[in-house]
Amino acid sequence: MSLARQSATELLALLNAGQTTSVALTETFLDQIKQHDPQVKAFLRVDQQAALARAADIDQRRRAGKPLGRLAGLPVAIKDLLCTKGEITTCGSKMLEHFAPPYDATVIAKLKAADAVLIGKTNMDEFAMGGSTENSAYQKTANPWDLERTPGGSSGGAAAAIAAAMAPLSVGSDTGGSIRQPAGLCGITGLKPTYGRVSRYGLVAFASSLDQIGPLAQTAEDTALLLEVLAGHDPLDSTSIDRPVPKYSETVKQPLKGLRLGLVREHFGPGLEAEVEQAVRSAVDVYRSLGATVKDISLPHGKYGVATYYIIAPCEASSNLARYDGVHYGHRTDEKKLESAIAQRRATLQAAGRHAESEAVDNPLVWMYRQSRAEGFGPEVKRRIMLGTYALSAGYYDAYYLKALKVRRLIRNDYDAAFAEVDLIVGPVTTATAFKLGEKVNDPLSMYLVDLYTVSANLAGVGGIAFPCGFGAGGLPIGLQLQAPPFEEERLLRAAHMFQQATDWHQRRAPMVPA
Ligand code: GLN
Repeated sequence: MSLARQSATELLALLNAGQTTSVALTETFLDQIKQHDPQVKAFLRVDQQAALARAADIDQRRRAGKPLGRLAGLPVAIKDLLCTKGEITTCGSKMLEHFAPPYDATVIAKLKAADAVLIGKTNMDEFAMGGSTENSAYQKTANPWDLERTPGGSSGGAAAAIAAAMAPLSVGSDTGGSIRQPAGLCGITGLKPTYGRVSRYGLVAFASSLDQIGPLAQTAEDTALLLEVLAGHDPLDSTSIDRPVPKYSETVKQPLKGLRLGLVREHFGPGLEAEVEQAVRSAVDVYRSLGATVKDISLPHGKYGVATYYIIAPCEASSNLARYDGVHYGHRTDEKKLESAIAQRRATLQAAGRHAESEAVDNPLVWMYRQSRAEGFGPEVKRRIMLGTYALSAGYYDAYYLKALKVRRLIRNDYDAAFAEVDLIVGPVTTATAFKLGEKVNDPLSMYLVDLYTVSANLAGVGGIAFPCGFGAGGLPIGLQLQAPPFEEERLLRAAHMFQQATDWHQRRAPMVPA
């Protein structure tokens, strides 16, 4: 079997047994990138030389019998919103085209300490806002199962890199579904940890009360391995929780006895494609055959999830993104463009008979901010900033933002009630398989509705995992989602692994993956 096809756990065993080297592995994945990334476009940047040098160094330390980290020699791809010291981190935006952070995100420092080989930075929707990776300012990533379709988003590059065997592990982020949804659409495994499980220090912020970093991989076992490295308390992120990190990579192998699953009644309503429903129901039968009991439950406020999320996330984004003004951070317009923008505006105001000063037209600083932001942000980011600014403004705050916070609490209460009765909630990740590139770009509402089954976990702060449970028309992967009470990542991983031991959906690979 080609090295590219093997799981991270298998590759690690080969490395530890001296049956392969990190250089050989890294070359294999770089080769896969070279051959297929011109079509898939999962990566924004690949530093071949640095990756090979790092791999060679790890191989040498291994040969010398030096102690090595948990992921020693394994290539890992990184979503381009995690700060990598001295290396460009764009967040998929023109705003950060030249941004080379002066420090590493905590998870990057942890990966380096674990002796992972950082192979490249993956494409994403600008500032993680989107569900198809089409909002990237740089390129559109394709789904490795069908190049005319989206890999999902916003961690579309991270998911496509795994599905196309361009890396055995990748790191993404999930604010409203951005790990689980692309994992589901690409036929891989992805986990959104509980809010606070993984440090967000060095993650370019989108919506700080919802953002979490998490692992994407081929199998639950690999996901466990990566989470073990990423998780843990960090004094640099006051929202990270000080709880011991379980040995996920070991406990993942323990099957769950007497598992009680909850099937959410409201998930099986209008909009859910028949093939997805069928695959999810068959997956539930697999769990039954493994001894689980299944019960219908209700998350009555889930129907407000998308509306609530699309108030809270833009509100937080509008405030987080205020720092990109061309001075503190981000793209700054040049003098010429600035002058012509001011002249244009003056002319418009004059023609309308309005006094120029009223719009601060004579204040070049304000104009510099305006013009820099106009040039640096793409349309979806601007839409969110406007939505958020509006919802937070005096007079609307109570009606929108405060109301949304109250509904958020009700959604969390629903979860608490459900988890009093069941161990895990099981259901679909999305209503349908991967949609065509271009299909939803001009219809933001239909793009937002893709998040139907994923946003509630972020609003409630609970963890969720997505993994393949079947294939639909055209051979497109269908994902299954499990959600667990806070800090029960072990349960998610064990349940996913149990399923993967009993089925082989996760072993089916996209056509470009070598045999
Ligand atoms: N699709 C959702 C959005 O556009 C979720 C994105 C995310 O999780 N980063 O906001």
